[in-house]
Amino acid sequence: MRPKPSLGQHFLKSQGVVDRIIALAAVGKNDHVLEIGPGTGALTRSLVRHAGRLVAVEKDDALARQLREEFGNTPSFGLVHGDILECPMDGLVTPGMKVVANLPYNVATQIILRLAPLSRLLACIVVMVQKEVGSRICAKAGDSDYAALSVLLSSLFSCTPGFLVGPENFYPEPKVDSQVIKLVPREDPLPGADRGDYRTLVFTAFGQRRKMLRNSLLGLPGMTKNLLPELARLSGANLDARPQELAPEAFAKLFRAYRQIIDA
Ligand code: SAM
Repeated sequence: MRPKPSLGQHFLKSQGVVDRIIALAAVGKNDHVLEIGPGTGALTRSLVRHAGRLVAVEKDDALARQLREEFGNTPSFGLVHGDILECPMDGLVTPGMKVVANLPYNVATQIILRLAPLSRLLACIVVMVQKEVGSRICAKAGDSDYAALSVLLSSLFSCTPGFLVGPENFYPEPKVDSQVIKLVPREDPLPGADRGDYRTLVFTAFGQRRKMLRNSLLGLPGMTKNLLPELARLSGANLDARPQELAPEAFAKLFRAYRQIIDA
């Protein structure tokens, strides 16, 4: 079967890397695991062995057929043949579930953002992504990689870099390095951070990284110049700052103040 670049198909060929992913996620017999993009089954084979139950979602028709042939008789395995970006997530994710995957890089960010609002249900997310995406997700305020994605995910999860994986561990070899990251839901998720309008606020603030918040936040629905002093007072934020200077906690305060003003 010829790998399809359009589906981000880079298949793992290193059992060592598979073992490290399983160890980082600490997959055990009590775990219910969701694998996104099982592909030719490199990770799936080990997950089936270690987990209590595994549900895998694969978009590719030929690979889905192949996976059914190999794992169809395994009672602890379930295959969803479909697009993870279109599957209703609340039907897939069950309480305490672990997500373990080598994600298709072209849609990895979208997939993680779809999982984020379900953080309360999850035990952890351990995924391989492009190295740059991993650095962005795990960046802290003030780091050069700190971005909207860092804020959105650190508001809900504790995000830690796992280990780096070179192109030689895949077939075909990608042009980029990869990184396995681990996201564990925070015990104190920031209030409102799972909402769509929080996401809008964070993306609006970072839409123009070089601009001061007082300018970029004017792009928010209902926001006007004369509301800015009230926004600064209620949130305690310095609106002359650039978005990369604000920690996720400051964004959550900004969001609360914005909602208070708009809902008044
Ligand atoms: N897990 C396998 C491995 O490590 O060798 C394959 C990983 S490969 C990077 C990504 C897999 O995700 C491919 O099997 C691809 O067909 C699948 N995929 C791509 N887009 C998808 C989507 N939107 N929904 C579900 N699966 C998808």
